[in-house]
Amino acid sequence: MAAKKQRISCEFFPPKTEAGTNKLLTEVAPALNTLGPEFFSVTYGAGGSTRDSTLGVVSALKEAGIDVAPHLSFGGDDKGAVAALLETYRQRGIKRLVALRGDIPSGTGGAAQLVYANELVAFVREHSGDHFEIEVAAYPEIHPEARSYDSDIGFLKAKLDAGANSAITQYFYNVEAYFYFLDRCAARGIDKPIYAGIMPISNFANLQRFSRNCGAEIPRWICQRIAGFGDDQDSIRQFGIEVVTQLCQTLLDSGAPGIHFYTMNQVDPTREIYNNLGL
Ligand code: FAD
Repeated sequence: MAAKKQRISCEFFPPKTEAGTNKLLTEVAPALNTLGPEFFSVTYGAGGSTRDSTLGVVSALKEAGIDVAPHLSFGGDDKGAVAALLETYRQRGIKRLVALRGDIPSGTGGAAQLVYANELVAFVREHSGDHFEIEVAAYPEIHPEARSYDSDIGFLKAKLDAGANSAITQYFYNVEAYFYFLDRCAARGIDKPIYAGIMPISNFANLQRFSRNCGAEIPRWICQRIAGFGDDQDSIRQFGIEVVTQLCQTLLDSGAPGIHFYTMNQVDPTREIYNNLGL
């Protein structure tokens, strides 16, 4: 059973269609909100491509009384555009942000004045003072573009030193990678919480593709087990729930400060894991 102080949060992405948005706002978010996570975050598409839909979902959730944290990256935006968005969020009562460099699509870098996420964090602090709680991204299996393991931790420290309050990790299935990373971060003087990002296993083909790009490793034994189920989606689903429940249980029992679920806008996997954990 999780100790009370361990934080649980959930993530959505802004759907591409009106029907998807309606479903998120009227079914998915209310259902997951009954589980009582501390907040929901909403991603921001590469290069600002979801600016309006992120703002729309964030505003609707906030109006429904749900605590929400927009992700914010600068993409090809200049500082003025980032400042305008910060002001809009402040006026809508938003108190928390996830600040990222983002994955910038080629050809959109034009007006950008900010390059790394630590610069965005510094800019948010300069512009909005302490209004926002700021989360940043961390990579227990190391960001794919990092020059080295140690330099990536150094740049995480730079984001936290620039004023971020805490970090949320990229998802992982190797629990040792996370706890080793926490140890290395502590050794570098990082004393702010690093929450574990957790991706329930649902669409395995998509997960494999995405994991290759973001540098998250799916252990061979998981791949082999799932391959053995063939087209038996029920068994894959059941196995995925068991594996991720066990991962979360180990994290919570071993002192992780909390868990951030990448829900993929689905209720069932996250809800089942929540229930299994007795959260
Ligand atoms: P940075 O911290 O800027 O790091 C990027 C790379 O540059 C790293 O390799 C780092 O080692 C290096 N680096 C960092 N600072 C410096 C510096 N000062 N000098 C030189 N090198 C440096 N993407 C989206 O597009 N939208 C989202 O909503 C989104 N949400 C996410 C949420 C979480 C919790 C996580 C973990 C990731 C998310 N991503 C999202 C993906 C993220 O944008 C990518 O991983 C991106 O490539 C890196 O973003 P960052 O903020 O970690 O970048």
